[in-house]
Amino acid sequence: CGVFAVAGHAGASEICYYGLHSLQHRGQEGAGIVISDGKRLQYHKGLGLVHDVFTREQLESLKGTLGVAHVRYATAGGGGLQNVQPLVFQSHHGGLAIAHNGNLVNAERLKEQLEDEGAIFQSTSDTEVLAHLIRRSRSRTLAEKMANALPLLKGAYSFAVMDEHQLVVARDPHGLRPLSLGRLGDAWVVASETCALDTVGAVFERDIEPGELLVIDESGCHSQRFISKAMRAICSMEYVYFARPDSDLEEINVHAARKRLGKRLAEEFPIEADVAIGVPDSSISAAIGYAEQSGIPYEVGLIKNRYIARTFIQPSQALRERGVKMKLSAVRGVVAGQRVVMIDDSIVRGTTCRHIVQLLRDAGAKEVHVRISAPPIKHPCFYGIDTSTSGELIASSLSVAEICDVIGADSLEFLSLEGLQAGIGRDASMPQCGQCLACYSGHYPTAIYPSTVLPYEK
Ligand code: 5GP
Ligand code: SF4
Ligand code: MG
Repeated sequence: CGVFAVAGHAGASEICYYGLHSLQHRGQEGAGIVISDGKRLQYHKGLGLVHDVFTREQLESLKGTLGVAHVRYATAGGGGLQNVQPLVFQSHHGGLAIAHNGNLVNAERLKEQLEDEGAIFQSTSDTEVLAHLIRRSRSRTLAEKMANALPLLKGAYSFAVMDEHQLVVARDPHGLRPLSLGRLGDAWVVASETCALDTVGAVFERDIEPGELLVIDESGCHSQRFISKAMRAICSMEYVYFARPDSDLEEINVHAARKRLGKRLAEEFPIEADVAIGVPDSSISAAIGYAEQSGIPYEVGLIKNRYIARTFIQPSQALRERGVKMKLSAVRGVVAGQRVVMIDDSIVRGTTCRHIVQLLRDAGAKEVHVRISAPPIKHPCFYGIDTSTSGELIASSLSVAEICDVIGADSLEFLSLEGLQAGIGRDASMPQCGQCLACYSGHYPTAIYPSTVLPYEK
């Protein structure tokens, strides 16, 4: 998912709208904006792309200087309008809006407990637990209530929460999901990725720290820690696949990181080939790195159709397969008669890769060698990347040679775990370079609660 917020700007709804557009790659299943005019919260949300959810009239009707916004990528809780964020709650104390990126691993357990104590949940999203915990806190201010509630949550979260008067943002103690702070004149902007700060003309100030709670109101911006320090573990998949290349995650540019991954891949697994191609969009940077390192000419061998209507419903396997067919085409003039090395960032279920190899062969490629710019994904993600919903990770049951057979390539290799860590280029003095590698290594930075594990045991 993508989270965006602005405080102290007369055009808050428009800023949120453009911010969400830049975060669209983080979620296409729903979008919402909540705005406060200082007296009450008003909002609009819906299923689908940002462009489809909002009209100019709707944006203009959301008047105020404070806003929280969200694009949804359904992992926990499934699809449906009731799960589209920000979640909005009203009580006689006023309004509350919550936008969340990440996934809580103990939400089910907390939810059962809260229900037994009388709570009634209006969504199936893990995020709603925070609202109930905030509501139950006896503390006075929203920030204090959140500081009470957050230590109870386990897992991944970057939160933007607001009432009529203030914005409170927080990042989980491991910093699993990114969250950055920027300035737009006198206003403050918070976004999952720095590309959204750039789009709205905000200047990057700093990242929200893991375990930091930041309150932004009329008196300014106040920071506190709500929990003691934990091991840093930003999601490595953000660098590999999820984030936009023009974003900097904890001050490392995503395009540059992917390019380094591609270079390492070429060092670890060279191949004789005539052209090096990437799978748009997420693997282009790695393919350029592979080409640069190997001396094999980089070519545009695959074209992505950007205008395929994204599905409004939860992507099922059947839809994914059909989506792939409509989305990519091979450039015959580039690949016909050639030995092609195709760089991609991940093989999750194997469907995409098998299909692309076939596309390239149909277009006349003489050989197709596949190189993946990260290690095999063998373990589910419990922190908000949707490999956790599949249970169909091809690398969890098949060897590299077997996967090569399934996708029909002439050869297949994956970057090593060491290559991934070094290539991303984070601080090597920190354990695992301060990043989560769990879907590759199986070492999760948090406890995985039984209620979260059960659905994946087969
Ligand atoms: P699959 O192997 O499941 O067919 O899909 C892998 C391809 O889809 C890669 O090209 C990757 O860029 C993209 N992809 C789609 N969804 C995900 C996801 O949740 N995680 C990762 N790592 N890649 C994904
Ligand atoms: Fe990211 Fe993988 Fe860790 Fe999930 S398990 S947070 S996808 S690195
Ligand atoms: Mg891809």
